[in-house]
Amino acid sequence: MPNMSKVKTPMPEQDPNVRNKNFEEVSLGYTEEMAVEEAKRCLNCKNKPCVGGCPVGVRIPEFIDCVASGDMENAYKIIKTTNSLPAVCGRVCPQESQCEQKCVRGIKGEPVGIGRLERYVADWHMKHGGAETFEEKPNGHKVAVIGAGPAGLTCAGDLAALGYSVTVFEALHTAGGVLMYGIPQFRLPKEIVQKEIDGLKDKGVDIRTDMVMGKVLSVDELFEMGYEAVFIGTGAGLPSFMNIPGEELVGTYSANEFLTRVNLMKAYLDEYDTPIIRPKNVAVVGGGNVAMDAARTAKRLGAENVYIVYRRAEEQMPARKEEIHHAKEEGILFNLLRNPVAIHGDENGRVRSIECIEMELGEPDASGRRKPVPKEGSNFEIPVDCVVMAIGNSPNPLIRSTTEGLEANREGCIVVDEATMATTREGVYAAGDAVSGAATVILAMGGGKEAACSIDQYIQARGKS
Ligand SMILES: Cc1cc2nc3c(=O)[nH]c(=O)nc-3n(C[C@H](O)[C@H](O)[C@H](O)COP(=O)(O)OP(=O)(O)OC[C@H]3O[C@@H](n4cnc5c(N)ncnc54)[C@H](O)[C@@H]3O)c2cc1C
Repeated sequence: MPNMSKVKTPMPEQDPNVRNKNFEEVSLGYTEEMAVEEAKRCLNCKNKPCVGGCPVGVRIPEFIDCVASGDMENAYKIIKTTNSLPAVCGRVCPQESQCEQKCVRGIKGEPVGIGRLERYVADWHMKHGGAETFEEKPNGHKVAVIGAGPAGLTCAGDLAALGYSVTVFEALHTAGGVLMYGIPQFRLPKEIVQKEIDGLKDKGVDIRTDMVMGKVLSVDELFEMGYEAVFIGTGAGLPSFMNIPGEELVGTYSANEFLTRVNLMKAYLDEYDTPIIRPKNVAVVGGGNVAMDAARTAKRLGAENVYIVYRRAEEQMPARKEEIHHAKEEGILFNLLRNPVAIHGDENGRVRSIECIEMELGEPDASGRRKPVPKEGSNFEIPVDCVVMAIGNSPNPLIRSTTEGLEANREGCIVVDEATMATTREGVYAAGDAVSGAATVILAMGGGKEAACSIDQYIQARGKS
């Protein structure tokens, strides 16, 4: 019997007033009973619109059908045919604008909780599933991957599955990219990411950390070392600032730096002596997911007041609705239609306050959103000891500036042929945020997949010529 409930089976969560003081995962995941109940809401539509909404084409109705009948192992196998990081995607994908947006059940109620089910299946496999076996035979070809974020890891995994010998070169001391250094523990536990990375290592992927490519080795040197193709998945880790007075003061961070100090340098653990300010009052500037993550992280570090300062209204905030809702529940204070104009410091050069101006919405701008316009003479100050800038990131120029023949656009994104992910340099492919600018995990993975397929065709074609 299908479950005709108009709403999703609720996801158990930690109480907001408890979780805003710890770094444990906010959403606790379905039990088997809940997962089966939710799976029974799927109508198994003939034309499968949800699959078209997934950038990697997960066979959604098929895996959900397995969940409904309690066959979790097969559900997992089906997901893994197209998605190499299901435990990650089940947690952080913006399903509301992808697969779930296309779900027919969403017309007269809430869509099927596809993300929640994907997460359940992946977690089930981690607990109960057997070791995955790989039957690929080495094909004698070598490929280098630069960057161990979702784009690079997906490309590496797909190529290894085809028998390639793949080496991943990662600048940081840990693989995972934003999954490790950006997205906080309470949304994506690092053990989960590590398990997915360990799975790739089991496939034979060689991951070398502390390798800042473009400095340690160039793309040309990789070719000289016998790599037949190079994939670039270096992300968009260069933070933007507003260029307002006071951004140099002690206590001003980019969101990337702030989150890296907490996530990667483990400032959230008492036994780590991580150099970070433990602020009392914090202003986080921006309205996207990164801003929500930084604000919720600051709260968990013990801040009393955490303000989101955003120049537009809530409807224009790019953050996922769920993240905004969670942030509000946890006591984050929203200062909307406010824009910073300066940061003021004390006599020791430390942040003392942020000066903002009130904004009102004018005519739509190029993005189609109503343009925020400052209200003359409405300046005011918020006393804070820390400011976190979360207003966007762009690709780091290191690789493109050290690689001959690699074209980039005005925003610094590497130019590729969208059908093949081939760059303007022969044998070099790229995908993820390095190509699109800051985007999403699943789009980076989709690009990494495309590139793996094209690299295979390129190397096989060379072998024949
Ligand atoms: C705080 C935060 C929260 C986010 N939340 C979400 C979310 O909830 N859902 C979602 O879908 N997306 C989210 N995103 C976006 C998402 O994480 C990115 O779109 C995605 O990680 C891009 O993947 P990537 O592989 O292209 O790059 P990255 O994940 O940035 O990985 C690039 C890797 O390349 C390495 N690298 C860079 N330069 C070099 C070099 N010269 N040599 C060697 N290695 C190099 C970097 O160290 C990094 O490990 C978030 C981003 C941030 C910052």
